[in-house]
Amino acid sequence: MEKSNRRLGKHAIVIGGSIGGLLTARVLNSHFEKVTIVERDSFSTDYEPRKGVPQGKNVHVIFGGGVRVINRLFPGFFDELATKGSIVCDFAKDLCWYHGGVWKARPASDLVSYWQSRPFLESNLLRRLKADTDIRILEKCAVTGFLSSPNKSRITGVKLRAHDQTEKTEDVEADLVVDAGGRGSQTPVWLEAIGYPRPIETTVEVNIGYASRIYEPSQDATRDWQIMALYGTPPDSKRTGYIFPIEGGRWLVSQVGFLKDFPPDDDKGYLEFAKSLELPDFYEAIKDAKPLTPITTFHFPANRWRRYDHLSRFPAGLLVIGDAISTFNPVYGQGMSVCSLEVDELRQLLENCQGRSTIPDDMAKKFFRKTAKIIETPWMLATQSDFLYPETSGKRPVHTNVLNWYLLRMLQLCSGNDRIVKTFYEVLHFIKKPTAFFHPLVFFPVIGRGLGLKGSYEPSKQRPSVTTT
Ligand SMILES: Cc1cc2nc3c(=O)[nH]c(=O)nc-3n(C[C@H](O)[C@H](O)[C@H](O)COP(=O)(O)OP(=O)(O)OC[C@H]3O[C@@H](n4cnc5c(N)ncnc54)[C@H](O)[C@@H]3O)c2cc1C
Repeated sequence: MEKSNRRLGKHAIVIGGSIGGLLTARVLNSHFEKVTIVERDSFSTDYEPRKGVPQGKNVHVIFGGGVRVINRLFPGFFDELATKGSIVCDFAKDLCWYHGGVWKARPASDLVSYWQSRPFLESNLLRRLKADTDIRILEKCAVTGFLSSPNKSRITGVKLRAHDQTEKTEDVEADLVVDAGGRGSQTPVWLEAIGYPRPIETTVEVNIGYASRIYEPSQDATRDWQIMALYGTPPDSKRTGYIFPIEGGRWLVSQVGFLKDFPPDDDKGYLEFAKSLELPDFYEAIKDAKPLTPITTFHFPANRWRRYDHLSRFPAGLLVIGDAISTFNPVYGQGMSVCSLEVDELRQLLENCQGRSTIPDDMAKKFFRKTAKIIETPWMLATQSDFLYPETSGKRPVHTNVLNWYLLRMLQLCSGNDRIVKTFYEVLHFIKKPTAFFHPLVFFPVIGRGLGLKGSYEPSKQRPSVTTT
């Protein structure tokens, strides 16, 4: 967009230059004369994981909703990524997913998905952002607090500190500050420092551990899949394994243990853990693959939702986005897609400001209401599944048992019913709303299975080949 059309303010600052920060900056660039990303780290130049995003060493899937938003902000982005090395798959056909005690059917579908490492995705987003915009990026620089108007009703900028030996400090003014600082976001603390209440946090504790490494796949002419996910079935099995294809024709493998049943980080223990998964398929796939990196571990304590949408007072000139609002148990792979959908809401809200010369003071209220709507579904999907383990701690919604009864039977039917598996994937990809789970063509088979009616499908533990309906 031409500079002359950027009417909503002189300067916007984005805290954090990860997925949320890069996408947010792209949107703000169309509305503010100058946009600055402040990032504590220095960006990786070689697709290596960086310190500020330690989760980047583990498997990361991006769903269709997220792909759609990113392609809108950076036209042709994922096609470009594919030419650079991302692996393009049919999500339903190329994925072998054991979940809820059954393998899902593998019908051919139009769910195109792109597979790469997290640093590869982020580095290419940064490259496109630099190519498409004139955004300023301050690396090795941390935001340490907010500047506010004398009556504290508005955030007017940020305090910066160089993240190097100089520790130089500076105050920088802005018309809008967006916190995309991730799980460790300090906005609640900085808000409290200027007299605002902290948002209430809802947490569901899962205490999961990841152990990940990159492999060169073994040669296997019979392999007819590209991605494998083998989930432990609650409540007995707490162990899960993933094999994701990434750039360079490699595999990124993560093993995950729930509720402190963490996978080890030594070679022998890693294979033993793989052997202990519910079915042998995962171990069989990795046992002859060649490890290319050491094993790295990561612990994730809890799903957490900071309820900014419930606050009665919030300053103008400030927004919070992405993991800084909510983090989900990562085994369901939703964070980046949710973050992208939130950025898309921000885009729409800013476009609705056409004709104005400043953003409205109630922008945050509207934005948090919209983001809460986006978060509801992935929060429900993640925490409902987590509550299948009785040791999971957190407030169980009253409908937990009924909903889990239904969802479990629906998952079991994913093994033989192409329609149900496609519906499940469409909700997962943010293409359909979860009400699709109750469409008559899903509802009646699920109820039939629940009641044990004749003709309801009996799931099998045999890994399915591709179905061609
Ligand atoms: C083990 C694991 C696996 C995951 N797998 C998936 C998956 O498969 N699919 C998926 O979609 N999501 C997954 N996620 C979630 C995903 O990583 C996050 O949802 C996503 O990274 C959120 O992006 P963000 O930009 O909000 O925050 P982050 O990626 O956390 O980035 C925050 C950035 O802000 C910077 N920063 C923080 N504070 C400051 C400050 N004060 N000043 C300056 N800079 C600052 C940090 O250095 C960092 O660069 C996973 C998460 C984990 C933990």
